Amino acid sequence: MKNDLTLSQGRDYLAIPGPSVIPDAVLQAMHRAAPNIYAGELVDLTHSVIPDLRRVARTRHNAAIYISNGHGAWEAALSNVIAPGDTVLVPATGRFGHGWADMAEGIGATAQIIDFGKSEPWDLDQIADALKADVAHQIKAVLAVHVDTSSSVLNDIPALRRVMDEVGHPALLMADCIASLGCDRFEMDDWGVDVMVTGCQKGLMVPPGMSFVFFNDKAAAVRDGMPRVSRYWDWVPRANPEEYYQHFGGTAPTHHLYGLRTALDMIHAEGMDHVWARHDRLARAIWAACDAWGQEGPLALNVADPAFRSRAVTSLRIGSPHGTALRDWVSSHLGLTLGIGLGMAPPGDPAWHGFFRLGHMGHVNGQMILGMLGGIEAGLKALDIPHGKGGLEAATSVIAGK
Ligand SMILES: *Cc1c(COP(=O)(O)O)cnc(C)c1O
Repeated sequence: MKNDLTLSQGRDYLAIPGPSVIPDAVLQAMHRAAPNIYAGELVDLTHSVIPDLRRVARTRHNAAIYISNGHGAWEAALSNVIAPGDTVLVPATGRFGHGWADMAEGIGATAQIIDFGKSEPWDLDQIADALKADVAHQIKAVLAVHVDTSSSVLNDIPALRRVMDEVGHPALLMADCIASLGCDRFEMDDWGVDVMVTGCQKGLMVPPGMSFVFFNDKAAAVRDGMPRVSRYWDWVPRANPEEYYQHFGGTAPTHHLYGLRTALDMIHAEGMDHVWARHDRLARAIWAACDAWGQEGPLALNVADPAFRSRAVTSLRIGSPHGTALRDWVSSHLGLTLGIGLGMAPPGDPAWHGFFRLGHMGHVNGQMILGMLGGIEAGLKALDIPHGKGGLEAATSVIAGK
C-alpha cells in the first residue's frame, strides 16, 4: 500500500505544551474593533477578570497583570522581591528551573541550584539540608517550578511548604505554574505559596502575550523592604492602581483581555474540579497508550512514577532519530504537530532527535486526545518503529472509564 498519501487537510491540532489550542469562542471574542481604553466596557471587563483569575489561582490575595510571556512573569516576580546580591534556592527538575535561576542571576542574584536531573522530582531531604545549612537565612526565596515543561515532572509544592516550615526557614515560596495552572490541581493559599507566576497561553487558552503574578501579604512586605524596584515591573500600582493604565504600566492589552474574559467564563462554567478531573483522565489515557507501546521497542515515558507526572504535558524518549522522524511524519501526513524534546540533549547533538513532547493543556477533549494517540500509533507503524500492541485500546478504555 502506498503510504506517502498525506491526510493533513482539515483542522490541525497543535499538540505542543504551549501555546495551546485556542477555543473558537476566545478567538471570536478578540475579533472586534479597537475598544475605548479610557472608560466603559473594557474597564469594567478588566475589573471583572481579576477576581476570576484569583479563583483559578485559588487565592484571596493580590494579582498583577503584565503584557508579557512567561519569561516576563519570571522577571516581574523576581524584580519585586529579589535585589542584587540576594540568594535564591532553585530545586531544578528540568530546563525551566534552570531558566528561572538564570533570570534571577540576570538581575544580580546568586542562584543556588540543586539539580535533580531531567526525569526525577525533588528530593525533599536534599532541599531540607540546603535550607538547614543556610543558618544566616541568606536564601530569600525558593523558586519552585510546579510542572517543568521540559521533563514533564510534577513537583509536590505542599510537601515543599512543609519542609520550609519544619526547618523554620523564612524564605518566600515562589511557584511557577505557567504549565500547570488550569490543568493540574494548584491551591495557592491552602498550600502556603507566597508568589505564583503564570502565563495566559497554556491552561488559560489565550494567545501568548499576557502573564500574571499573584502575591500574598508576606511577599508584599518583602517588596516594601526592597531598596528599589524597577518602575515597569513594580507590582504595587498594577495590583492597586489609582488610574486604569496602571494595571498594565501603560496601554491595556485590549484584545487579550476580551479573550481572557471568555476563557475564564469557560473555565468557571466547567468548574475547577472538573477542569482538573478532565486533564487527569486525558493524561491517564496518554500514559496508558505509552505504557502499551513501550512494552516493545524504544518508546518510554520520561517520568516513571505516575504520582510525579504532569497532566498538561508528557515528555517521551524514543531514541534518535525516531523522535524527529515521528514529529515530521504526523505533521506532514496528519496535520498533527507534536512538541520537540526540550533540554533533554543539546541541539546539534544527534541524541536531540530522540525526544518529543505532547501538549494536552487547556482546550482539549477526549476525541482530540484519541486522535493524537491514533496519529502517533499510525506514525509508529508508518516508520516501522518497534512498539507494543494495544496502545489505542488501553487509551480508549481509560477514556471510557473502564
Ligand atoms: C512555558 C513556560 C515558561 C516560559 O513561558 P514563555 O511564555 O515561553 O516565556 C516558563 N515556565 C514554565 C513551567 C513553562 O511551561
